[in-house]
Amino acid sequence: MASTDTPDSEAGRDFIRDIVQADLDAGRVTDVVTRFPPEPNGYLHIGHAKSICLNFGIAQEFGGRCHLRFDDTNPTKEDQAFLDAIERDVRWLGFDWGKHLYHASDYFQQLYDWAEHLIEKGLAYVDDTPPAEMRAQRGTLTEPGQNSPCRYRSVEVNLDLFRRMRAGEFPNGTRVLRAKIDMASGNMNLRDPVLYRILHAKHPRTGDAWCIYPTYDFAHGQSDAIEGVTHSICTLEFEDHRPLYDWLIQHLPVPSQPHQYEFARLNLAYTVLSKRVLMRLVHEGHVAGWDDPRMPTLAGLRRRGVPPAALREFVRRIGVAKANSVVDIAQWEHAVRDTLNRIAPRRMAVLRPLKLVIENWPEGETATLEAVNNPEDPTAGTREVAFGREIFIERDDFMENPPRKFFRLAPGREVRLRYAYFITCREVVKDAAGQVVELRCTYDPATRGGDAPDGRRVQATLHWVAAADAVPAEVRLYNQLFARPDPGADGDVMADLSPESLEAMTGCLVEPALASAQVGETVQFERIGYFCLDPDSTPERLVFNRTVGLRDTWAKVQATERAR
Ligand code: ATP
Ligand code: MG
Repeated sequence: MASTDTPDSEAGRDFIRDIVQADLDAGRVTDVVTRFPPEPNGYLHIGHAKSICLNFGIAQEFGGRCHLRFDDTNPTKEDQAFLDAIERDVRWLGFDWGKHLYHASDYFQQLYDWAEHLIEKGLAYVDDTPPAEMRAQRGTLTEPGQNSPCRYRSVEVNLDLFRRMRAGEFPNGTRVLRAKIDMASGNMNLRDPVLYRILHAKHPRTGDAWCIYPTYDFAHGQSDAIEGVTHSICTLEFEDHRPLYDWLIQHLPVPSQPHQYEFARLNLAYTVLSKRVLMRLVHEGHVAGWDDPRMPTLAGLRRRGVPPAALREFVRRIGVAKANSVVDIAQWEHAVRDTLNRIAPRRMAVLRPLKLVIENWPEGETATLEAVNNPEDPTAGTREVAFGREIFIERDDFMENPPRKFFRLAPGREVRLRYAYFITCREVVKDAAGQVVELRCTYDPATRGGDAPDGRRVQATLHWVAAADAVPAEVRLYNQLFARPDPGADGDVMADLSPESLEAMTGCLVEPALASAQVGETVQFERIGYFCLDPDSTPERLVFNRTVGLRDTWAKVQATERAR
């Protein structure tokens, strides 16, 4: 069954791993410590998986440890439900932080003390310039900023104001604590960045203890330093923040000196990985929830039937680089397909059933045939399937007037029924509207198991289910949630939602073995794709999600698009 086995750690080399190796070789580092630092303001997505595999993977490969640290400095956006979901998803992906679960909020007192330390050294000041004015004073990329009048306050005044900020004397947004660096710096992040803001808000962990909160920029590097993180790995957008982090580390009595390295975030075609947009998708009802199988969240991918090993394999294949790029959907689907091909049991299911009666099969008799569970995995064994006079095949596998390249069933033609017999179509039965409702066929008893002793060949092998024991099912076929490779590039991202992202099919039939399928277990419907039982299922109502089709339809679609 699609298992949650432990990470396959045959990882490739990349520039970050090279840096870690060089640090170890030179003795600059003895124990490698990394961390994955999510903000608990949404669910983890496939982009986070890249970061998780990188951070936890490096710790594993170099015998170090990786912390899970919640960057919970933004109490108005955070929620305990997100913290719980994040822990569940990291574990599901196959990683373990052991006892190293931390929160930036664990360090609020230490961070506060360090803020006072900066004030005492004349390196931070309280600014009560109104926000709009402060923004104007910041300058632009081409013009230097202007010093705030508050920059010249004495240490005593600053300490007094900062303590009163903390004591709750001032309303939200009326004052901030800023680092005193350089308003003329070419790097905007060094133009006296905000370190603390006033926010009278209850925090999920610290409750009402604080009404001032550190900014991400102030909390992040110091949290790394407290935890002894040696390699602080983040995405490229923080490259310009590194001089600020280094400045803070240099001026504070921190217990260790983390170094930050930046890599390119994962961008995936047809996919949005902004938590803000994912939140909108959920809240505006465009999807059924954070775990809707069309969502790129780990919860959505899990519900869709993607095994964690496929995510790890994908991340291994795309590698880690310093240049931004967009990964093709085909590459993602390949990784999923390749992983499932190795582990998913094969089953038979018919999505659009067409009845087929075998006229020379004795009424009421059944044969028990042997079907292979997974040709890629001999240890998966075989199972028994019952065959009888009435079966169902896929409507698409029959054409009354087939064009030249259609090799499947047609009047007068012989094909193989998988694991069963050769059959020949003798007659087509239609309803009053001219719609084909039944095929009358004959079978060749000498071809049991699917081979003709006389060596005669057929052009096609069809899957089928037996009418006597087939189980009804609903099947949800998922397509890309967005209709264009770069959603939102031309305006509102919601305008690019695809109307065809979900095709819900009823009246499907599956072989009886699937009646005992487990939620979260992904199987291959032979000749169709990979499918997974949805948690919406009940014993009376089976619902399957398509994880991914068997063929690489995306490569084809795109080739056609390019050719246009
Ligand atoms: P937001 O979009 O809300 O700013 P985020 O996606 O950066 O948030 P965080 O919770 O801050 O979310 O991310 C945690 C970690 O995951 C960060 O270190 C971040 O660099 C990394 N990460 C986020 N998105 C990606 C991505 N698409 N590819 C690789 N790493 C990512
Ligand atoms: Mg972020």
